[in-house]
Amino acid sequence: MNTRSFWAVPLALALAGTAPAQTPAPVIHRYAAGATGMFVNAYLVETPHGVVAIDATLTESDSKALRAQLDSLGKPLLAVLITHGHPDHYNGVTNLLAGRAVPPPVLATAGVDSVIRANDAAKEAQWKPLFGDEWPAQRTFPSRIVRDGESVTFDGATFIVHALGPGESYNDSYWVLQGRRGNRRNPGTPGAAFIGDVVLNGVHAYMADGHTAGWLANIERVRDALAPDMAVYPGHGDPGGPDMLAWESSYLSTYRSAVAMLARGSATLDSTAKAQLVTRMKQFLPTDRLDMLITMGADPVAAELAASRGR
Ligand SMILES: [Zn+2]
Repeated sequence: MNTRSFWAVPLALALAGTAPAQTPAPVIHRYAAGATGMFVNAYLVETPHGVVAIDATLTESDSKALRAQLDSLGKPLLAVLITHGHPDHYNGVTNLLAGRAVPPPVLATAGVDSVIRANDAAKEAQWKPLFGDEWPAQRTFPSRIVRDGESVTFDGATFIVHALGPGESYNDSYWVLQGRRGNRRNPGTPGAAFIGDVVLNGVHAYMADGHTAGWLANIERVRDALAPDMAVYPGHGDPGGPDMLAWESSYLSTYRSAVAMLARGSATLDSTAKAQLVTRMKQFLPTDRLDMLITMGADPVAAELAASRGR
């Protein structure tokens, strides 16, 4: 044994003995709704002593099932983080908070909060007839506003919120769970991005808010911001890596090109053109998942394109 290895072994043992115990990395649980819940995802980020929810699903059944999944972890709910102001992401907050003496905070950017407050009644009027009792009678709005770039920490898990502005909704945002730098003894953990509906992965897209140009720009911003090894958790469809952003971009570009060709400058598409649009998009993405959104987005996107030509 040479001198160097003789000393190296006790030194390593001494360091190991005095090193602070590494807090386990958060565990991310996904709740994925089925067709009746618009295939929306909510996530539960489990820390050693609590859980942070990201979004809350749409229907009574899904949000009660999400609550049951949360309760099965046997830890307190520390906060709910909202990605954007569409009902399939915030309707279920009420069931997550129900029965708690001190309800945990519901966090959103000012932009997301104002979209929820401005549109909640209209969304209920539009969708309750379709969803009936599955539409929560009471919705719970954000209780804490966060600034763009603000970081919040719950039980050692730090999230940073990024405001995006108009895109899939009138005002999008996304949340990044910070990773940990590794060292010689402990491997690091890459961060995780909860990107809301910046991507509907392998699912047809909701374009009826008419901001597809903003949405494409948002995708670029998120793509530039994420590390290549980061786990990405979308608002609909399977989690994966940042490559899902390029896929969504190409979905939207294909849709916009098809609408431009079929509308020829008009702000609406007739029923024949809408049927052709459905055919084109189902060639691009051969799935029924949310395919009713293809027709729903046709006129808003035609109007968006017509307005941008007139500018
Ligand atoms: Zn959604």
